[in-house]
Amino acid sequence: MPEKKTAASLAKRLRESGLRLTPQRLAIYEELVSRDDHPTAQRLHLDLAQRFPSLSPATVYNTLEVLVERGLVHELGEAGDSAIHYDGDVEPHLNLVCTRCHRIDDLHDPALAGLYDGLAEQSGYQIRGARLVFYGLCPACQEAQS
Ligand SMILES: [Zn+2]
Repeated sequence: MPEKKTAASLAKRLRESGLRLTPQRLAIYEELVSRDDHPTAQRLHLDLAQRFPSLSPATVYNTLEVLVERGLVHELGEAGDSAIHYDGDVEPHLNLVCTRCHRIDDLHDPALAGLYDGLAEQSGYQIRGARLVFYGLCPACQEAQS
């Protein structure tokens, strides 16, 4: 079961990862974890700037970099729009990317947990996360096309 994502539990996770806790760092992490639209750094900055007018784009980029490094969030690469997207959900799941409207959806499939276990056994790795991206046309875009 994924732990409930309260500000306190997120702060705890930051500290456990050896990160200094700053209000901005926590706000960026909290914002990313609370949404499922896989925003870019630019999008996150725009949305957070309303609450944190002094927040610079560089702080958002640097914070995301540190969070990715510690395995707290995932970097998804571009969704056909030449921008890196971020995912605050590090539970086993895969992403579906629409090549037309660039939306990114999550798919949680119980079979994935079994896949992780099998890979860990085969490779000797402790699996901490994965980037599984499938490309295609979302249902809305299929409809628009026909
Ligand atoms: Zn689409």
